[in-house]
Amino acid sequence: MAIVQRLRAADHPAYAVGGAVRDSLRGERIGDWDVATAAHPEVVQSLFSATFPIGVEHGTVGVRIEDETIEVTTFRTDVATDGRHAEVRFGATLEEDLARRDFTVNAIAWDPESDTLVDPFGGRADLEAGVLRAVGDPDQRFPEDYLRVLRAFRIAVRLELEIDPATERALERHAAGVVRLSGERVRDELLKTLTECRSVSTVLGMWRQYGVMALLFPELAVCFGVEQNAYHADDVGTHTLLVADNVHPRRPFLRVVSLCHDLGKPMAREVHPETGDWTFPQHEVPSARLTRQALRRLKFSRREVARAEHLVRVHMDLPPPDVSDAAIRRWIRRVGEEHLWDLYRLHLADWRGNRKRAERPPAPIVDLYHQARRVLKQQTALRVEDLAIDGNDLAAIGLAPGPELGKTLDWLLEQVVEDPALNTRDTLLEMVRA
Ligand code: ATP
Ligand code: MG
Repeated sequence: MAIVQRLRAADHPAYAVGGAVRDSLRGERIGDWDVATAAHPEVVQSLFSATFPIGVEHGTVGVRIEDETIEVTTFRTDVATDGRHAEVRFGATLEEDLARRDFTVNAIAWDPESDTLVDPFGGRADLEAGVLRAVGDPDQRFPEDYLRVLRAFRIAVRLELEIDPATERALERHAAGVVRLSGERVRDELLKTLTECRSVSTVLGMWRQYGVMALLFPELAVCFGVEQNAYHADDVGTHTLLVADNVHPRRPFLRVVSLCHDLGKPMAREVHPETGDWTFPQHEVPSARLTRQALRRLKFSRREVARAEHLVRVHMDLPPPDVSDAAIRRWIRRVGEEHLWDLYRLHLADWRGNRKRAERPPAPIVDLYHQARRVLKQQTALRVEDLAIDGNDLAAIGLAPGPELGKTLDWLLEQVVEDPALNTRDTLLEMVRA
């Protein structure tokens, strides 16, 4: 590795560390390399031409070299922690640096020059035995940084490791400390978890088992045990995780939306007057509100919250297949063209996550979106901007500028969505005059 060579040529010990070493020992394709070195951050910055600060106060500098971005972190020890932040000291040895890492499988250093491992905590043996074990005393390690609780679940599921009994007992004792984490860190860890773990059911099942879900995502936790009806094999919570399993891990945010889609069901549940079975009339309304509440708490951006809320609010709006093109156009208007394919992914996942419906192919959904695709190809007007006239044209024939003008354009669009042939300049102006 060029970067390690360059640091060593300047007399600074340097090693590859972290997830890339772990993954290469497992024979997996490796993501970004992390390098640990004795050199202090300003020395790293002076040795390489292309660097950028990532967390210089914690000792991390990004280095661009040979088309790769490598995080270079100075050997450090944590001198004080409060469960959320660490105060760090540089000038540590490699062994001290490895000792402050979370799990043995993450605390292996590799010397690329001699191709040897520095593995003081037996991380390689744990990897081979399939064990996730905290470095040192697990009862100390989780309270130092409660994010490690969530990291344990992610890493155990992603690498299919069993949690060592002592680490597991410590997890049980300290899991509740996650309430002290900032929303931002929980959000980032949740997105990483949903990206790296194919099975959401398994990893969020652990969040639930250890009581973390009830603390970080209570809206979802209360969905478990809420029985549904003759159309469903599973309770609301179990179904929800199965839906998220069926959204691709490359779309972690859409997985989050899928986790939110039925949050309103527990409070919307009623007994159907005729069948006596449960129904969930208009559960999408409380679902959207709870989506906003949960995602705001997790510090998702305004745009993300709005997008999730919208998708959840419209997820029950599914016209039957074979309706008229005009009805499809009205539906696309309600849903928003820009949300259409996310909604398709959610609808498919919702279907597949229902163990009763999943026995049949999702033909009604596929047919509906085929129809939507065909209607979109016709390129008829779906937005005010697609009309053959605009506000200036209306002003030119004497309409006063202001809200009335916008309302008139909206009304024209409604007519054009019904009958696209109306969308010519002359016809529209004629309609306004009339
Ligand atoms: P990934 O493949 O997701 O990048 P990773 O193990 O490299 O996995 P990073 O978050 O990049 O994860 O962290 C790099 C290394 O830093 C980890 O392998 C671990 O040794 C250490 N580390 C990261 N976060 C913590 C933490 N909260 N507590 C202790 N050590 C940590
Ligand atoms: Mg990494």
